[in-house]
Amino acid sequence: MIEIIAFDADDTLWHNERHYDEAKEKFKQILTRYHDPEWVESRLDATELQNLKRYGYGIKSFALSMIETAIQLTEGRINGNEVQEIITIAWAMLEKPMDVFDGVRETILMLSEQYKLLLITKGDLFEQEAKIARSGLGDFFDGIEIVSEKNPAAYDAIIKRHQVVPRSFVMVGNSLKSDILPVLEIGGLGIHIPFETTWVHELVPESELEGKDFIRLTTMAHLPALLASL
Ligand SMILES: [Mg+2]
Repeated sequence: MIEIIAFDADDTLWHNERHYDEAKEKFKQILTRYHDPEWVESRLDATELQNLKRYGYGIKSFALSMIETAIQLTEGRINGNEVQEIITIAWAMLEKPMDVFDGVRETILMLSEQYKLLLITKGDLFEQEAKIARSGLGDFFDGIEIVSEKNPAAYDAIIKRHQVVPRSFVMVGNSLKSDILPVLEIGGLGIHIPFETTWVHELVPESELEGKDFIRLTTMAHLPALLASL
């Protein structure tokens, strides 16, 4: 029997990746007189991945990665005004309005009457707390877990804290790498709701999905009926 339904937040409940995509476009514009946009983007992606180990996830980490990439790609020629422009890109990201996906609020409200709901998101504590507050969805959840990495150990600790067995735990999210595969590994159920774009860091090769037993939905609106059928 299902007792807990846990949700990822970014690109599962609301838009997130597109704010990064927009920021990258602006960043490439700033560096356009130094390098071609594709090269800038590939260097930024590489710096970002490297910096996850240093700073973790989130906009502050991304801002430092943009500045670092700009210094490297211009061999130190980037000037103070251009660095300020990069910082302004990050500030704008922090102030983006919350764009909750259609149907999410209704679905969460409906499910909150039947199940214990958790929100499990990774990233910067301050940033994620602010987004949850601004989304207006926080009150529907029985618990909010902000973790630095979504790995099997993190999920294991969460289900132990909430005193349920893995088979009664369902995780719903857009990332196979963070929301589905680690949950399957600890014996929970995974429901994948893909989003139109996936961050390069979250991509999973097809070979890693072989034999993995999870459910895929096209929209959150189908979730109540699916859960009722399990
Ligand atoms: Mg997500």
